[in-house]
Amino acid sequence: RQSMKACNQFVAEFEKVIKKPKRHDSKTYYTGIDLGTACVVLAVLDENYKPVAGAYRYADVVRDGMVVDYIGAVELVRELKEEVERKLETELVYAAASLPPGTDELDGGAIKNVIQSAGFELTNLLDEPTAANQLLNITDGAVVDIGGGTTGISIVENGQVVKVADEATGGTHLSLVIAGAYKFPFEAAETYKRNEKNHDELLPSLKPVIEKISSIIIQQTQGYHVEGIYLVGGTACLKNIETIIEKVTGIPTYKPSNPMFVTPLGIAVSC
Ligand code: ATP
Repeated sequence: RQSMKACNQFVAEFEKVIKKPKRHDSKTYYTGIDLGTACVVLAVLDENYKPVAGAYRYADVVRDGMVVDYIGAVELVRELKEEVERKLETELVYAAASLPPGTDELDGGAIKNVIQSAGFELTNLLDEPTAANQLLNITDGAVVDIGGGTTGISIVENGQVVKVADEATGGTHLSLVIAGAYKFPFEAAETYKRNEKNHDELLPSLKPVIEKISSIIIQQTQGYHVEGIYLVGGTACLKNIETIIEKVTGIPTYKPSNPMFVTPLGIAVSC
């Protein structure tokens, strides 16, 4: 509980500096870059590893961890870098990035090339659950990252990731359900879903997909003693998603105040 409190404070600090960057003289800055299916996030920490700035954009340059629009990805990361550099009046040099679990061989160095082509020196490339756990600091449990295209499940025992899995169900599937039910184009469904005011109304229609995610968690955690599920990723922002997951899996389920920024901040901490 203590570590969740610390994680929430760190995320809250980051949310503040996204709106109002903290400009001061730091000897160096550490940037975490999360290249996601739905969203690209840049988190910047100062020499004391305190959040000082950040920026993010919804984009379609990566699918399930694979860079599908290389030029677009480079331009976007460069754009976010320049945006933060202008705000901080400094140059960002060092960056770390992450890969979804199990995709390192498929990636073939694409993410590394994107980060370097955007003008960063890459200091670390780590897997997403390990990054998220830099903030969550759990020693035993499952980190469940519900992103845009996929749900990543990582089992942590004695502070070490002992199993990772990534399955193709995530926020995009929820948006497709909304698009069908409300006869919205996909983009409008995405925007509608991201507005917390609509969450109570949406939850009954989204329940079957959340139950599917829960059954994926049950499958992937079978044979392990999982005492708690820790939700991260943008889709975990959905109000009461943790209640459904806890009910279906029977495992106590926790989520930070803003699950979307846990992985990018964990990446920055590992820079
Ligand atoms: P992946 O991990 O699958 O590569 P990603 O890294 O882009 O994807 P995230 O940025 O963690 O994933 O999450 C993006 C998803 O979260 C999108 O489907 C988006 O619609 C959803 N999302 C973001 N904010 C909210 C919100 N407030 N409420 C509900 N869903 C949200």
